[in-house]
Amino acid sequence: MSIKFYNTLTRKKEEFIPINAKEVRIYSCGPTVYYFAHIGNLRAYLFMDNLRRVLKYNGYKLKHVMNITDVGHLVSDADEGEDKMMKAARRENKNPYEIAEFYMNAFLKDIDKLNIDRPEIVARATEHIDVMEEYVKKIIENGYTYQTEDTIYFDTSKLDKYGVLSNRNVEDQKAGARVEFDKNKKNISDFALWIKAPENHIMKWDSFFGKSYPGWHLECSAMSYKYLGEEFDIHTGGVDHIPIHHENEIAQSKGFCGKIPAHYWMHVEFLQVNGGKMSKSLNNLYTLKDLEEKGYEPLVYRMFNYTSNYRAQINFTFEAMDAAKIALNRLREGYLKHSQGNEDVTNEQIEDYEKRFLEAINDDLNMPVAMSIVWEIIRNPKKSKKLQNLLLKFDEVLGLDLKNYSKNKTSDFPEEINELLLQRNEARKNKNWEESDRIRDILIKKGYLVKDNKEGTILEKK
Ligand code: AMP
Ligand code: ZN
Repeated sequence: MSIKFYNTLTRKKEEFIPINAKEVRIYSCGPTVYYFAHIGNLRAYLFMDNLRRVLKYNGYKLKHVMNITDVGHLVSDADEGEDKMMKAARRENKNPYEIAEFYMNAFLKDIDKLNIDRPEIVARATEHIDVMEEYVKKIIENGYTYQTEDTIYFDTSKLDKYGVLSNRNVEDQKAGARVEFDKNKKNISDFALWIKAPENHIMKWDSFFGKSYPGWHLECSAMSYKYLGEEFDIHTGGVDHIPIHHENEIAQSKGFCGKIPAHYWMHVEFLQVNGGKMSKSLNNLYTLKDLEEKGYEPLVYRMFNYTSNYRAQINFTFEAMDAAKIALNRLREGYLKHSQGNEDVTNEQIEDYEKRFLEAINDDLNMPVAMSIVWEIIRNPKKSKKLQNLLLKFDEVLGLDLKNYSKNKTSDFPEEINELLLQRNEARKNKNWEESDRIRDILIKKGYLVKDNKEGTILEKK
């Protein structure tokens, strides 16, 4: 069945046709690691993960790259303000490398908790400075730059058109510009590619331009080229990337090899909080840890995101999170009920559910419709393992970890038994069969039947 994605480049929903029929190549703009990710950022990676899962569900292999911006860049996309990493380093009295290491690990932990699969390649900018240097040299050779004393700029007037994604022209940008026009630039849309480092700048490298560092936009162009080539299938990011960062990536690629790097550009809309912007000053900026401290497990936040399509804004409220918490519990309970049933459900019924689920996810990842089909299955009065298996299959896309829920569903047993079951699951995961047999024997002695199957262990009181 064909897949349709909304492509920001053409402003249309289009049939997805990958360059290589078997393997889809994707690049996602990753986090700048100078602070904990907030739940808005995490929405962007949940979208990225659903995209991966839908493509895999359709049988594609993936080669997916996500960058980690661990080189400092300026506070605004338009080369204005302070360096984010330096600012964080001052705030925490650490050096920028320590800041990057700490927040990168915190980010990876967050995405693990949300059951977001890691892209095949997670590429740190600081480990690719040489790749960026080679890339920028070619843009210079091709005649797309000019140089001031301390900066190499991309000259956007050399392009046939700048602004293909946002469809804005340079005049619009002037009218809309809130920042002072940098007098060193020839055109307002020009941007820094490579910058000489001032004496007190910690993150700098010896390069063709002396002690210097790359502009932010360069890392995505250089790393996507290194791992995915001049042209690949899908580029993802947040809607805030459209007007500057992604326009600049396209400009760089055109300067490098004359091509727009990705065929499909997909952008996730913003999460709002109580109908407005999330910000520290409004005291409404939440991290995953904040949600956990308020009693919401991370997967509740994943569930909450399925109430909206990725292209629509979503409004975060604690009432909506409470509803998502109840919904996730109902889903799990419903799933368990099916796992215990043996009533007859026809193959036609299963096929109908499968067909409609696939139609929904292949329609530009329509998760709210996909979830409505999941609820039909949960509410089906006939309880059947066939339906359980179908839910497990759909969970390859939903990522709600139902498989492990059944494994760890221990709450009806005494504490001591729960503990033994968890230890045994751990032993089985580590293929420590001796230990797992030992615990099984204890459980049997204590009066339980232990049944192992592909999905995990089922325990019953004898
Ligand atoms: P950053 O680490 O600031 O580069 O942002 C990481 C990702 O989060 C980018 O893809 C942004 O587009 C995205 N993002 C930032 N704020 C929000 C928000 N409120 N809702 C959804 N995505 C966001
Ligand atoms: Zn990027």
